[in-house]
Amino acid sequence: MITGEQKPIDEIREMIAPYKRILALGCGSCVAECASGGEKETAMLASLLRMAAKIKGEDVIIEEQTIDRQCVKEFVIQLDETIGRYDAVLSLGCGAGVQAVSAMFPEIPVIPALNTEFLGETKDQGIWVESCLGCGDCMLYHFGGICPLARCSKQILNGPCGGSIDGKCEVNPDIECAWQLIIDRLSKFGNLDRIENIYPPKDWSKKQGGGPRKIVREDQQK
Ligand code: SF4
Ligand code: SF4
Repeated sequence: MITGEQKPIDEIREMIAPYKRILALGCGSCVAECASGGEKETAMLASLLRMAAKIKGEDVIIEEQTIDRQCVKEFVIQLDETIGRYDAVLSLGCGAGVQAVSAMFPEIPVIPALNTEFLGETKDQGIWVESCLGCGDCMLYHFGGICPLARCSKQILNGPCGGSIDGKCEVNPDIECAWQLIIDRLSKFGNLDRIENIYPPKDWSKKQGGGPRKIVREDQQK
């Protein structure tokens, strides 16, 4: 999923300051899972902003709504009937959600309430960790299912740096050494010979450099 964290309240207040009727728009998918932009967080932020406005004597209306996914047209279209009531949308979606809403309703400013962070997984309650950089050419097979690009602090593709102590990364002892994990996993499945391969430098052209990436699936089109 895509993770995000709410921006500082002062930054949000500064961005919405010019507007009088604001829709705080939550997203029920990734950012709900990472507890930054779901229905609950949207209600809490809207309430906080209303309180702050009241304390300052500001005459603003802040209402909230959450749709299932801000990055999917079929869900964003649900705003069609209500969005006209507002002069700005404060989106608690990820960066893709903010831009999708903005593209569908170009007459209204859409302001990000979150900082979009990374592609990751929910490790435990209240703990999310990065696990994929979306490189466009997945190499997990070669590395026993552990991504050295996302999880090794030095993004090394050809074996550990040698600084790991007790399975922890030398850059940060709170992080497990990705290469220790890779070796453990490859050993477990009898595939340790794969680390004999020499992997060339990552070809980042599949991620960046060619403009925004796009997936087109004709079999999925009507
Ligand atoms: S190799 Fe690429 S696609 Fe696969 S997990 Fe790592 S960053 Fe993600
Ligand atoms: S200690 Fe392990 S995770 Fe950390 S930089 Fe070295 S190889 Fe990568």
